[in-house]
Amino acid sequence: MTTDTLVLGAGIVGVSAALHLQERGQSVAIIDRSAPGEGASFGNAGLLERSSVIPYAIPRDLRTLLNFATNRAAAVHYDPAFLPRIAPWLMGYWKASHPDRLRTIARELLPPIEACLDEHDRLVQAAGLSHLVRRDGWVEIVRSEAGLAEAGQRSHDLRRDFGLASDVLDRAALSRLEPSLKAAAIGGIHWRDPFTVTDPSALTKGYAAYFESKGGTIYCETIRSLTRQANGWRVTTDRGQHEAANVVVALGAHSGALLAAQGYNVPLVGKRGYHLHFRAEAGAMLNHAVLDEEVGYVLAPMAAGIRLTTGVELAAPTAPVNRIQMDRAERRAHEIFPLGDPVEEKPWLGLRPATPDMKPVIGPAPNHRGLWFAFGHAHHGLTLGPATGRLLAEMMTGEKPFADPTPFDIRRLM
Ligand SMILES: Cc1cc2nc3c(=O)[nH]c(=O)nc-3n(C[C@H](O)[C@H](O)[C@H](O)COP(=O)(O)OP(=O)(O)OC[C@H]3O[C@@H](n4cnc5c(N)ncnc54)[C@H](O)[C@@H]3O)c2cc1C
Repeated sequence: MTTDTLVLGAGIVGVSAALHLQERGQSVAIIDRSAPGEGASFGNAGLLERSSVIPYAIPRDLRTLLNFATNRAAAVHYDPAFLPRIAPWLMGYWKASHPDRLRTIARELLPPIEACLDEHDRLVQAAGLSHLVRRDGWVEIVRSEAGLAEAGQRSHDLRRDFGLASDVLDRAALSRLEPSLKAAAIGGIHWRDPFTVTDPSALTKGYAAYFESKGGTIYCETIRSLTRQANGWRVTTDRGQHEAANVVVALGAHSGALLAAQGYNVPLVGKRGYHLHFRAEAGAMLNHAVLDEEVGYVLAPMAAGIRLTTGVELAAPTAPVNRIQMDRAERRAHEIFPLGDPVEEKPWLGLRPATPDMKPVIGPAPNHRGLWFAFGHAHHGLTLGPATGRLLAEMMTGEKPFADPTPFDIRRLM
């Protein structure tokens, strides 16, 4: 075999894993049915979320739960016929959202979150992609004094517990940072640690081009099956076969089917999310990505326009595009920012690969030598891709992992 490792999937996670393995002297090829960065890694909000140290849990307060249950919220929308199909996953998510459990999960996720900016930065510099990255954080806006008090307390607690850098903004300070925001945004928090990316797909494509420039190969083929060989693995695609000693499954929300065939029934749900780009009205501009937490959407200044990304839709992965959440979010976004016409007709739809305990799966297959996993990064795949790539490559090559990989072991979900 001439290839040491085949990485299945050219999203941010697969490409990052491939780069880290290549750096460690392995001969690596990636297989994807599309060009790199065309899956979930194409359309996200572009936040390298160093400040997101507590994962997105199911809220416990009755008011928010009732708001979600009526299916009228912009943040969460669901197809009632789909929920029974994911009932065990939902139950697991609910349990993981208990404050005690959530504290443990946050602690387990902290090392890769803490490493996320350095790991991106190194690749960004090496691949010459600095023009895609902004290093001045993002802004959470609030619509009421009560909201500002709550956000101020939360940012204080996170500064105390995790050392996060943030400024509480009254209306005047918010206007200095974002002069085009309308009066409905009465203040906010400037989370200063995170970076933002002006074209997430271009970042993944840039990392992939760097991988190729260093001798890596990318095959544009659809993966059909995975077969164990005497001394490795065979991947069968629509175009032929590839063999290698190791295989890394990094197919995002599509990782489940291939794994089920190997006996791993991973509870993985694709949390759907949309984006649509808008022009700004004449003279208006947005300097930072802005989260309207109360409503549940992000407005981010991107190369293609102002990208409005929605919250979570729970519906079958193949269900048609449902504009309802985008329309709700757009209506409320006009209250905050002078959005002009949409750039595209139809919203983009992507799947966040989500496990019930909010943690990715990173590490070896317990029952199969040479089979490795890197998926399930949910809301933080763009953030964590390079840190995951490093952790996985360290495990695969026998180096001491920079973080404890135990919390990401697939056995916790089996
Ligand atoms: C609306 C939205 C906003 C988001 N905002 C953020 C954010 O601001 N910050 C952040 O960190 N994260 C964000 N995320 C999450 C992030 O985008 C994902 O976690 C991340 O992109 C997952 O990367 P991945 O490489 O695991 O999967 P993907 O990028 O989906 O890559 C999987 C790849 O597998 C390929 N594939 C699948 N099946 C096959 C097959 N049979 N044969 C060949 N190839 C196959 C696909 O073509 C795809 O390229 C957001 C997601 C959404 C939807």
